[in-house]
Amino acid sequence: MSSQGSNPRTNLLGKSAEELRAFLESLGEPGYRGAQLYHALYAERRFDFAAMTNLPAALRERLAREASIALPRIVRRHSSPDGTVRYVLALAPDSGSAPAGEGRAAPANIEAVFMPGEKRQTICVSTQAGCAVDCRFCLTATLGLARNLTAGEIVAQVLVALEEHRATLKPQTNIVLMGQGEPLLNYDAVMAALRILLDPNALAISPKHATLSTSGIVPGIERLAQEKVRPKLAISLNASSNEQRDQIMPINRKYPLEMLLEACRKYPLRPWEHLTFEYVLLGGFNDAPEDARRVAKLLAHVRCKVNLIPWNPGALPYAKPDAARVEEFRAILADKGLRIFVRDSRGQDVQAACGQLALAESAASSPA
Ligand code: SF4
Repeated sequence: MSSQGSNPRTNLLGKSAEELRAFLESLGEPGYRGAQLYHALYAERRFDFAAMTNLPAALRERLAREASIALPRIVRRHSSPDGTVRYVLALAPDSGSAPAGEGRAAPANIEAVFMPGEKRQTICVSTQAGCAVDCRFCLTATLGLARNLTAGEIVAQVLVALEEHRATLKPQTNIVLMGQGEPLLNYDAVMAALRILLDPNALAISPKHATLSTSGIVPGIERLAQEKVRPKLAISLNASSNEQRDQIMPINRKYPLEMLLEACRKYPLRPWEHLTFEYVLLGGFNDAPEDARRVAKLLAHVRCKVNLIPWNPGALPYAKPDAARVEEFRAILADKGLRIFVRDSRGQDVQAACGQLALAESAASSPA
């Protein structure tokens, strides 16, 4: 694996098949070698050119001189007894894949989380370093936005987590874009990464196993609706009225509930698909029976399921809802015919549960 840092070589990570083809042609190589390189990099997950045995030896040597595969450096691994690992990853000052004209990307620390399961692993990735959306229950919000991640930096998080567990991987990988950042505010890089992650010729993750979670950026939802290749969509709802949502999600003032739910109702769901609404239950704030009844009314005409996430005790001043209150909330929604799940928050002890992806290391190093 090539190292990051002051390497002036072209970083190939995050490049599409077409971009790799163009790169090889720029070196005077046949364009079809691009597809071979793409396969070696993303399908076989080879990060050392010498190991790309589907390429001629002379080309491998040339690539080693002229290109790099700049995976982020693992700064720290926080492991939980349930097998969850939260990675703190250092991004290079210049990954080499920043869009032309945008200059050098700033260094940043981000996080990714690997969660093992019986038949699958789930990888939670960040799409921005920090976040500007400022949800009041979210530790990441306290960092502010450092910068957008490039497509390569998003794909790299998945590659690093898979590589770390290569010997014990289950056949299915789930991806959730629920780490640091609002994915729909870094739209182009997120979609470029998803096209690689979901490509059967690359990482081959099924669109049924990839979920993008948004705070409710309505123009982004409308844009996503037009994409041929797209993940499932989850909306972070967390409130039963505009007044309540304004208090914990300031983005609601820009895209209030009626606008958000209109976009959800119009969203062109595939036959197998439903929207997911995430609802963090903050004890004494949004967990009353009347909240549940209002949520049921809001979601009445949307094909969806609801994930209830009892608040994880953490650094922010909210109370954990008591179990009876959670059950009552669940039962009211279920009675109204909604598909509803109470999510366990795995990895709480390593702060890898929802809304907890922020870290002292980032706070310390964030330029924001
Ligand atoms: Fe940003 Fe998501 Fe945190 Fe809101 S919950 S501040 S969108 S990272």
